[in-house]
Amino acid sequence: MSSSSPAPASSLAADVVVVGAGLSGLVCARALAAGGASVVVLEARERVGGRLLSGQVAGSVVDLGGQWLSSGQDRLLALTQELGLSTFAQVRAPAPLLLEERAGALGELRRAVRQVLAMRKISRLARRASASPGSVPADRSLAAFLTEEIADPVVRERLALHADLVFAIDPSSLSLLSYLTTMHATDGFGGRGAELPGGGREHRFTLGAQALPLALAAALGDGLRLGQAVHRVEQRPREVTAHTAQGALRARRLVLAIPPVLLRRLELELPPATRACVAAAQAGAVVKCFTAYDRPFWQERGLSPEVYRPRGLARATVEATVANGAPSLLSFIVGPAAASWAARPALARRGALLAELAEQLGQVAAEPIDYVEHDWAADRFSAGCVASAAPSGAAPLAAPWAAHGCSHFAGTETATRWPGYMDGAIEAGQRAASEVLAALAAG
Ligand SMILES: Cc1cc2nc3c(=O)[nH]c(=O)nc-3n(C[C@H](O)[C@H](O)[C@H](O)COP(=O)(O)OP(=O)(O)OC[C@H]3O[C@@H](n4cnc5c(N)ncnc54)[C@H](O)[C@@H]3O)c2cc1C
Repeated sequence: MSSSSPAPASSLAADVVVVGAGLSGLVCARALAAGGASVVVLEARERVGGRLLSGQVAGSVVDLGGQWLSSGQDRLLALTQELGLSTFAQVRAPAPLLLEERAGALGELRRAVRQVLAMRKISRLARRASASPGSVPADRSLAAFLTEEIADPVVRERLALHADLVFAIDPSSLSLLSYLTTMHATDGFGGRGAELPGGGREHRFTLGAQALPLALAAALGDGLRLGQAVHRVEQRPREVTAHTAQGALRARRLVLAIPPVLLRRLELELPPATRACVAAAQAGAVVKCFTAYDRPFWQERGLSPEVYRPRGLARATVEATVANGAPSLLSFIVGPAAASWAARPALARRGALLAELAEQLGQVAAEPIDYVEHDWAADRFSAGCVASAAPSGAAPLAAPWAAHGCSHFAGTETATRWPGYMDGAIEAGQRAASEVLAALAAG
């Protein structure tokens, strides 16, 4: 951060400025206020929640961004209970359909055994990589690992599909080390249910996941400033100034609760290790598409609405129906297909998705009563999703987030458990708040 400019004449706006009103920044602000600090939160968008955004399809609440609370996300569960928010179990198909191109050559039982063995191998490596990152070559990609070490092509394809859905980054661009350490920090395959591709799904929020940040923001009052994007951070020995188009705000401490890819857009000085990490961060690309129908045609026809495919456009489709809502489906487009989604005209996008659903579930699937999509890769203040990750050739992102001068780092990517998820956002926000309160107390 620059220390050359003169200090602005205005008085301190607050003890702490938090940049970003996503879950992490808001949890941080709440903990700071509880610890007695005055806080101003600056948010670039005209809404809170960041990667948590709820919308509607055919009048029912759906999550256009983060959605599922899975077992093991203990911080998220505790916050949900504290805020008095209700959840319900995700509707699961008894037998998800895997549209594999190479299935059939081997009995399903033998394949299942091979799959379990491959998953155990990855879990073992993930434990080792987390304890000793040097045990995994930093320049190895997940794709290279799968090609070289998973002999069964169908199992390999299932593992690649799982990674595609979790990271939304092509396995050839994803660092094996990053994959392994994230798998370890998110309870590996174990906490995600027995089936392979559908990671992290268990409970949904009745009011949508954005209810979490909305509830946290309500307590901030005029400490929350929307539509104020920080573009420069100026640091002096005992204070820090955040610059926005609307003016400058001075505080004793500052917390940057934005994804690493977006830190690149800020004018700020960083220590070399953090700078390298920010420079290496790559964002995934994901589009969520909801289709609602006048009746649950899949039930009538005995079809599974839960479909996974290693190739094609919609890599996963799951049921999105809520109590008393229209029967609906949610399809995920991830990786390169999602990255180029915005370049296609809206009608062509809808047509392509519906054609694929029709192929999977019959022509009736191409006749929804409502269609809603949200493209996170095209969203300026998320700049890709689900989360930032390290590319092949770079170390994982979790390491170098120690405070720099009067500035601290939050955001899910800086978490040690569940990085990339809501739980990680909470951990990071709480950790940054503890750091700041300790620093303020020390004077
Ligand atoms: C499609 C999708 C599906 C997901 N599914 C799940 C799931 O099922 N379960 C789960 O646990 N997690 C899921 N996630 C991840 C989860 O949503 C995120 O981990 C979490 O919301 C991140 O919170 P955050 O506060 O760290 O970051 P963000 O939510 O990105 O918040 C950062 C905030 O900073 C703001 N900002 C950015 N730049 C500036 C600036 N210069 N000045 C001021 N403000 C700025 C942004 O507008 C944003 O509000 C999903 C995410 C996506 C996109």
